[in-house]
Amino acid sequence: MSAHRPPAFDPRDPLGIDDLLDSDELAIRDTVRTWAADRVLPHIADWYERGELPGIRDLARELGAIGALGMSLTGYGCAGASAVQYGLACLELEAADSGIRSLVSVQGSLAMYAIHRFGSEEQKERWLPGMAAGELIGCFGLTEPDVGSDPASMRTYAKKDGTDWVLTGRKMWITNGSVASVAVVWAQTEDGIRGFVVPTDAPGFSAPEIRHKWSLRASVTSELVLDEVRLPADAVLPEVTGLRGPLGCLSHARYGIVWGAMGAARSSFEAAVDYSTTREQFGRPIGGFQLTQAKLADMALELHKGILLAHHLGRRMDAGRLRPEQISFGKLNNVREAIEICRTSRTILGANGISLEYPVMRHATNLESVLTYEGTVEMHQLVLGKALTGLDAFR
Ligand SMILES: Cc1cc2nc3c(=O)[nH]c(=O)nc-3n(C[C@H](O)[C@H](O)[C@H](O)COP(=O)(O)OP(=O)(O)OC[C@H]3O[C@@H](n4cnc5c(N)ncnc54)[C@H](O)[C@@H]3O)c2cc1C
Repeated sequence: MSAHRPPAFDPRDPLGIDDLLDSDELAIRDTVRTWAADRVLPHIADWYERGELPGIRDLARELGAIGALGMSLTGYGCAGASAVQYGLACLELEAADSGIRSLVSVQGSLAMYAIHRFGSEEQKERWLPGMAAGELIGCFGLTEPDVGSDPASMRTYAKKDGTDWVLTGRKMWITNGSVASVAVVWAQTEDGIRGFVVPTDAPGFSAPEIRHKWSLRASVTSELVLDEVRLPADAVLPEVTGLRGPLGCLSHARYGIVWGAMGAARSSFEAAVDYSTTREQFGRPIGGFQLTQAKLADMALELHKGILLAHHLGRRMDAGRLRPEQISFGKLNNVREAIEICRTSRTILGANGISLEYPVMRHATNLESVLTYEGTVEMHQLVLGKALTGLDAFR
């Protein structure tokens, strides 16, 4: 009889989702969780308050050493991890801070992924090993000051001059921009949108940092200025033309966000549970009041449904069966629910909820960026709306 008794209820894993993970997946998750606990959590409130990510180059090298950069890519020093393993890493990194997860996503899923998928053999050998090791930081320039959700309208232009390319234009809101050694820049050409691998020491390239952000404060965000940047013929990514290029990279990064957002939510939720059992009002812990318990129960539902969804999408990606519309499903749901969990957790912490002593408000404000980048809520609604009806409502 006792052999069939279900295991004890675990408040940290109420659905037993860990049972779906194998020992390698659990080991990778624990490695990243331990790294984040040692290297990020003790400092993050200070970095956030200062609006800086000091020691970003050391952090990148350490992330490289644990195999977190370009994690699901193969060869060139990359870890060759599965989609689920990569997702688990994103969750643990974002449980520390969305800024750290953004550093890893942009490096691996955008800059490295673009070179790995669309680059020449020479481009891969030149850039990927150093990027996988965290010796070289990469950024990904798609958004422009006047062009966000509609990247087909981008103005940055690359024109041929003999065999050279000459790039002119501006990119905006570019994660890792000012610290990058290499920028993957998307530009119009006579043949449509092409990607260019731009060494950031090229004459005419500059990347002023964007200050005064109230979200993703522990993340480097920059403008890219391309003032007639001259590049050799082999700077273009040879294997792709058109929006298919950047959109393919974004799908990969969005997939990581489906997991990552649940990390921020988990951190906030756990802070709320802990607080609710120790904070007393009216002579008893506030977690003993039914109204608080209703909040906690509802948050637990959305948190663990979101993790299950991420897991499901990860298994589909590993099986080669994940569609972009399904990634939109996950990104839309999980980021929206994660913000709601942070906001509700904030109410449970009362006034302390607005303090950097607790992670909740930091996660909530970070998630405002996550809600917008990699496709806004509205873009993912339109993707799903089109898939459900067959009618395109984008324009
Ligand atoms: C911290 C941070 C880091 C970022 N990092 C990067 C990066 O590394 N690389 C990069 O290229 N970009 C990056 N971005 C930019 C991000 O991808 C864009 O902000 C995003 O694509 C939205 O573009 P936008 O801000 O220009 O908003 P807009 O496109 O101007 O949209 C404004 C509003 O209008 C809505 N809207 C637009 N069109 C429609 C429509 N057809 N129907 C209904 N509603 C519509 C949008 O959903 C949104 O609510 C970053 C942004 C942030 C905040």
